[in-house]
Amino acid sequence: GETLLEVKNIVTEFRTADGQLSAVRDVSFSLQKGETLCIVGESGCGKSITSLSIIGLLPSNGKITSGEILYEGKAIHQLPAQKMRQIRGNKISMIFQEPMTALNPVLTIGYQIREPLMIHQKLSKREAIDKGIELLKQVGIPYPEKRMNQYPHELSGGMRQRVMIAIALSCNPGLLIADEPTTALDVTIQAQILDIINRLKDEFHMGVLMITHDMGVVAEVADRVMVMYAGKKVEEGKVEEIFDKPKHPYTIGLLNSVPNVDDPDFELEPIPGSLPSLDEQISGCRFHLRCKFAKDICRIQEPPEFKLSDSHQVFCWLEGDN
Ligand code: SF4
Ligand code: MG
Repeated sequence: GETLLEVKNIVTEFRTADGQLSAVRDVSFSLQKGETLCIVGESGCGKSITSLSIIGLLPSNGKITSGEILYEGKAIHQLPAQKMRQIRGNKISMIFQEPMTALNPVLTIGYQIREPLMIHQKLSKREAIDKGIELLKQVGIPYPEKRMNQYPHELSGGMRQRVMIAIALSCNPGLLIADEPTTALDVTIQAQILDIINRLKDEFHMGVLMITHDMGVVAEVADRVMVMYAGKKVEEGKVEEIFDKPKHPYTIGLLNSVPNVDDPDFELEPIPGSLPSLDEQISGCRFHLRCKFAKDICRIQEPPEFKLSDSHQVFCWLEGDN
């Protein structure tokens, strides 16, 4: 494949009244064209901050303090706001969990879909309306002409998320970042939205970065998976490696907490304990307070990367021979 995105050793920090907090700690990964990488972990693990770092939408007290982000080989982590806006209008799009907050309630769907087409693609109003209708069709919205004249509150949650995907696609992005896009939706609608994302990824040969806490979503869409815990990458691999041969105790815990629809007696096994806060000082492995396999070295020294295959890596001392 052709490399679309490279994230190299990024550290993202927040300035707060309590001092400097690290939300992303030396995280590296890459994404190929036409590939879906899922970043998975509990809420607060740094997965959303990682994606906001890439797209240049960190809150004003947040900053990438080291590392590099390359899009098609070009550094984008230090671009001025104006240049970053162009990237967001032309190359990288993002969709979020709650489309109601991303759509403007007082503007019609038609207005919101044609505006970016007129600004970024320099289309005339007529062309932008035609293109908007075509995009709504592509995301499976029935009666798109009628929808163009409606307001967000007149649409269901699933239809609003389809509209957001249509708007995200309007710039022909090379990269689509989707942060928990189906979390607020019921299971049937969720499956439809994931199908649309999969289909569009193939059709447009996009890279997709999917942020989720849900291993069920991962199973539906991922080619590769990166698991994060407390700001760190803990494991990365092809989807079959992560599901069939998970190595990190945290990954195993996430997989065990997925309900099994084929086995009604299956008991959820949530990982005991909770994610540490960003300012908590933890020596050694950041998971050791919740890990039932923790040994002495885990409390003292951070585990390095252990390679299990060309595509599968884990950061856990269980792979070391000490
Ligand atoms: Fe558990 Fe140690 Fe592995 Fe951390 S390094 S996950 S504490 S076994
Ligand atoms: Mg989040």
